Amino acid sequence: MPVITLPSAQVAAGAGHLPPVCPRHGDPAVEQRAIKLLSKPPAWAAIFILGGGILYLIIVLAVRKTVKAPAWPWCATCGAQRKKLLAIGLPLLAVGLLLLFGAIAMNSDSSAVLALLGIVVLIAGTIVAARGGVLPVTGALVSGDGRYVEIKNGSDRFLMALHQGRARV
Ligand SMILES: [Zn+2]
Repeated sequence: MPVITLPSAQVAAGAGHLPPVCPRHGDPAVEQRAIKLLSKPPAWAAIFILGGGILYLIIVLAVRKTVKAPAWPWCATCGAQRKKLLAIGLPLLAVGLLLLFGAIAMNSDSSAVLALLGIVVLIAGTIVAARGGVLPVTGALVSGDGRYVEIKNGSDRFLMALHQGRARV
């Protein structure tokens, strides 16, 4: 599972500039997706959480780097993974909400326990559904300086296809 580093300019150049292979899973691309890749919040930004969620959000958005990928190779495994995570996460979200509203509606001694359970299920559902987002599934992150797109746990087959493409040029 190599770390794959692609120049942002190559990713942004779109169709034909990336091999038609999924960088994460190494399977043939079934679709070229237009996605906006993002950088991870830098570790030092965490200190601003102390200043409140809004301040943290402002800092994170201010330092965030984005790369527009007009044709990102998306494979069948990407699609299956996203579908599976959403199929678990979204019903969990719904059940969590039901429990929470049920607890409020019931307004009895057991409401607090039920509400707490609802919140736990809601958080679990949010985490699973978020992992099914397009970006987490691709595993691609923009580097802190915005110059590269990186895929940790990338695919050897993608790297091979990339090098073959370069050799041809
Ligand atoms: Zn894939």
